Amino acid sequence: MELKLKPEEIRNDLVKKVEELAGVNVFACYQCGKCSSGCPSVPYMEILPNQVLRLLQFGKVERILRTNTHWVCASCFVCSTRCPKDIDIAAIMEALRQIELRKNQDYLIVRRIDTEEMKEFPPIALVSAFRKLTA
Ligand code: SF4
Ligand code: SF4
Repeated sequence: MELKLKPEEIRNDLVKKVEELAGVNVFACYQCGKCSSGCPSVPYMEILPNQVLRLLQFGKVERILRTNTHWVCASCFVCSTRCPKDIDIAAIMEALRQIELRKNQDYLIVRRIDTEEMKEFPPIALVSAFRKLTA
């Protein structure tokens, strides 16, 4: 027996939220892997950008949110420029971060950063990290 689900049967509320925030259709992805092969953050990611897309196609947003991938993403847009289907993967990563941050859950706990260590970081890196990783 062949079991085929249509996108509208899989598109749960969280998938819809990601698509709405990122302005993408996750079902356009055909898993060519070009996004992951150009991504500079892959060595630090628990799952790859193309795997994020595949899990979205299965409606498994919570599964993605349990990984570090969207936090480790450097927002460099390489994936978005390489995608032959014009999917803005960088915007998907931002949407996933927004879903978490809108629950007022910071990924970066500022008070846990060592003050001496903080002096070593370039100010622009700190500003960027605070903007991206805190609610
Ligand atoms: S490059 Fe685009 S089509 Fe290819 S796997 Fe990544 S998101 Fe999917
Ligand atoms: S935007 Fe994020 S996911 Fe895309 S290539 Fe850059 S680091 Fe990787």
